[in-house]
Parts: sequence; C-alpha cells; structure tokens
Amino acid sequence: MTPLDHALAARRDDLIALTQDLIRIPTLNPPGRNYREICDFLAARLAAGGWAVELLRATGAPGDSDAHPRWNLVARHEGGEGGDCVHFNSHHDVVEVGQGWTRDPFGGEREGDRIYGRGACDMKGGLAASVIAAEAFLATHQHFRGAIEISATADEESGGYGGVAWLAERGYFAPERVQHVIIPEPLHKDRICLGHRGVWWAEVETKGRIAHGSMPFLGDSAIRHMGAVLAEIEERLYPLLATRRTAMPVVPEGARQSTLNINSIHGGEPEPEPGYTGLPAPCVADRCRIVLDRRFLIEEDLGAVKAEIRDVLERVKARRPGFAYDIRDLFEVRPTMTDRDAPVVRTVADAIRDVLGTQAAYVVSPGTYDQKHIDRIGRLSNCIAYGPGLLHLAHQPDEWVGVQDMLDSARVMGRTLERLLL
Ligand SMILES: [Zn+2]
Repeated sequence: MTPLDHALAARRDDLIALTQDLIRIPTLNPPGRNYREICDFLAARLAAGGWAVELLRATGAPGDSDAHPRWNLVARHEGGEGGDCVHFNSHHDVVEVGQGWTRDPFGGEREGDRIYGRGACDMKGGLAASVIAAEAFLATHQHFRGAIEISATADEESGGYGGVAWLAERGYFAPERVQHVIIPEPLHKDRICLGHRGVWWAEVETKGRIAHGSMPFLGDSAIRHMGAVLAEIEERLYPLLATRRTAMPVVPEGARQSTLNINSIHGGEPEPEPGYTGLPAPCVADRCRIVLDRRFLIEEDLGAVKAEIRDVLERVKARRPGFAYDIRDLFEVRPTMTDRDAPVVRTVADAIRDVLGTQAAYVVSPGTYDQKHIDRIGRLSNCIAYGPGLLHLAHQPDEWVGVQDMLDSARVMGRTLERLLL
C-alpha cells in the first residue's frame, strides 16, 4: 500500500459518515430544497481544512427564488507552485423520492457495505469520495504543483442552469483557471465516461374543432389527428431510428442507436381536479399535444433530426384533410465525447490500472449531464465523468452506494491527483 492508500484506509469511517451526512440533507429538486444547508455543511468542513471557499447564489437563473435560492459551492486548495488545476464537480441536488422504498430515503441507513438513500449513488457518494480523496492527498503531500478544486452545484437534475452553466458563464470552468475536470457521477470505479448523446425535446400540437361528443361529425378531433401522427412514427420512424448505430461506446447497449420517447400526451378536456366525483363532459378534442424526447448520435446532425419530425408531420398532412399542427422546440443539447487521448482520460485510465490492476472501460452516457456546460460554455473539453455507484440504481427506490466502491474510486481519484500534480 502506498502512503495515499494508508491515508484513505484510515478515512473509511469518515467517508461513511460524510456520505450519510450528505444524504441526510434532503436537497430535493424540484423545487430545490436545502441547497444553502448542504453548501454550508461542506464549506465548514473544507474551510477548516485550509480550502478557500466561495458560496455563490445563481441569482436570476431558472428556478432561483428567495424561497428556493440556487446555492453553489466552489472550494480551491492551492499547491506551492504553478501547475494544472484538477476540478471535481458534483451536483448536490437529488430527484424526488417516488414510491416503493423500504428504507428511509433521507436516513442514510447503512447495512453491511451499502449506504441507502435518495442521492446515495447519484451522486452524494461520488461527492464524498472526491472530498475524501482530496483530503487524503493533501495529508500525504505537503508540496504539490497547481491546485485542486471541489464544487458542489445545483440543479443538474433539471438541466444545470442554476449550477454548472451559471458558473461556466462566469469563468469558473475557463481553461485559464481549470485544466482537468472529473465529474463523479455513478459510472462505476473501473469505467471512464467520455460524454453523452445529444438530446432534442419538442412539443407537437395537433389542431381540431370542438363540438358535442354525440355529433363528432360537426367537429374535428385533434386526438384522431395525433393518432395518425403516432401511427406514422410507429410505422416509419421507429424502424428507421433502429438502423442508426453509433461508434460512441454508449451504455447500456440498447442506447447505442438513435432513440425516441414520447414523454407525454394530452388531449381534450383537462384531467379532473383531485376529489372531483362527477362525470366528464362530452366534447370533441380541439387540441392534442405530445412531448417528444429524441436522443441523437454524434454521427447525426441536429438540423436533420428536426427535419425528420417535420417530414413525419408533413406526410400526415398530405393525406389528412383539415390536418394542422404546431411544433415548438423545448430543449436541445449537442452530443459530446472527449478524446481518449485527452490528458484527463489517459491519467484516470493509468490510475485505474495502478489501483485496480485492470484496464479502464470507456463508456458514453445515454443521457446528458453537466459536462455539456463545461464543454460548450466553459470551452473545456478535457472533462470526464468518473465515480462510484451503479448507474441503474440512480432515481430508483432503495438507491444505495457501496462503501468499498467509494473507497476504490477515492483511491483512483487520489492517484489521479498524484499523477497530475506531483
Ligand atoms: Zn447525477
């Protein structure tokens, strides 16, 4: 064991306690609860360890309000001399609890090797591992080059605009300040995540004319028009998307192609208020809306992706009298994939080999995460996701993270710091 390994082994209980403490602060998003509390908690710990700590509220960002302010923490520890800065970025928000839990979602319960709770793997376990890795590195090496940064940022689960995007717009991920970024999302201890597929969300609305439900021939049903759109998507578009394969190493395997989900459909009169006991009223639907969630590949062009949906709508229009529609862009992110020869990728792969004795596996995420902002706004492409936890447990009931997995990931992170900063 190296001195760093000893320092980490001695911090095992500290790592467990830190993970539990972070889980016990319910940073639910939406609406964005307890962001200040979690930043204060981390700030106190890091400031005591000699870090320069900044607390930053993303004033004016989407979702920011006095009731639910978007707080972020950035901490920096300088080495003695000039050199690169290695930045660990974790989001501190967690998604809703949902049904099906057998544990207290905010209890931080531990059983054997597992710590349970909402956010355990996504990604308070990764945040705790990076903090412990940096602290063990600092305790082991009094002199090093460059700097280490740790950030805990808001709103990743809702797009990251009150977190990493806001910080990136203010230069926190500028290449002059930060040279290597590691995002400890739950990709597992022996995998390096290079980036993600692209995403385009759009709302499609079909138009109709309201009439009495007993005389539908006097109206025009927007729901039937939408049915024709869905049939066209089913028969023509899905088979086409399934043929488009990517060279990106996306996991799971099923996401190694173009995909399309219909996130929602609404037509006709609104859902009744809870508690309403009456019957619905008979009307022909005068509008119907769907939200499309199209995930695209680095080999695809966003303009062509959009044109493909328009083609679907135009084909339906050509054969259905009275068919009219609107389409509205909601959200778009281009695919990104860091080069395997990028310094941070090579260094973490070397560290995985040093620590675990295995070859790193390279993966790409099916969905996006905060790397998009670091890449596009920060203009820093030397960025990966690497951290403990199993991706398929994220957002699930009884989410957990493994203690040994966190310790091993922390060893890889610490070894990465040694390789980059000594
Ligand atoms: Zn996450």
